[in-house]
Parts: sequence; C-alpha cells; structure tokens
Amino acid sequence: MKILVSACLLGQDCKYNGGNNYSKKVAEYIKGHDIVSVCPEVAGGLPVPRIPCEIVGGKVTNKNGERKDLEFRSGAEICLKKALYEKVDLAILQSRSPSCGVKQIYDGSFTGKLISGKGVFAELLSKHGIKIVDVEDL
Ligand code: SF4
Repeated sequence: MKILVSACLLGQDCKYNGGNNYSKKVAEYIKGHDIVSVCPEVAGGLPVPRIPCEIVGGKVTNKNGERKDLEFRSGAEICLKKALYEKVDLAILQSRSPSCGVKQIYDGSFTGKLISGKGVFAELLSKHGIKIVDVEDL
C-alpha cells in the first residue's frame, strides 16, 4: 500500500512553532508500506516557524489578520498533485490543522474553539477521492 502522511507526524520539524508531531503509532502502522511525506504549508512557501493560521470566514488567515489563503491553497494543490502522481491509497493526516485536519478545525476566533470541518488539504484530497484518516482514528 502507498500511504501519504503529514510530514510532521513522521518527525519533520515543519509545524508552525518549529516542532513536529512525531507519532510512534504512525511509525508502526506504516512499516512495510511505501510512504509519501508532505507538508502542504511548507509546500505553499510558508516559513518554519510561522504565525499560526485558522480558517476565518472561509479564508485562511493568520493570528495577525493577514491572509494566507493563497499559500495554503497552492501548497495543498502541489501536494494533491504529488498524491495523484504517486497514486496513494490512503492519507494519514494530523488532527485539527487548518491544512491537514480531517474531522475538526479551529473556528477562526483563535480562542482554541473547535468546530467540525476539514483543513484545506484534507478537503482537496477528499474531493479527489483519496481516503483520509485522522491520525487519532488510526
Ligand atoms: S500542514 Fe500538515 S504536515 Fe504541515 S505541519 Fe501542519 S499538520 Fe503537519
């Protein structure tokens, strides 16, 4: 099986705060499979570290009120192309991210409040028929 994985889950320091979300559970699960590792936010040209973003009124915006929608959407498109080219069977994605979140995202108020919804990249993968799994449901 070929599995796309959010790069931060594999230990890549690509999170907004310069850290990662390394998951031992993911490392175990992917043993013996082909892996495609992507970080759509970095692919969209955003730096590490970066100011955290949420989806505000449908547009990705950072905590300072600056629009980052173009970067998020172009990064998601780049990573979608990679996923389609590689013909991945499944994508394991980091929870609650404005890019990778599968079930829940923050509500755009930067107060830590969650709502149901998908991140920009997860939404795009899903629209193109790629099965997405929240790492917490693995
Ligand atoms: S965009 Fe996805 S892969 Fe990149 S740091 Fe955020 S959750 Fe991880």
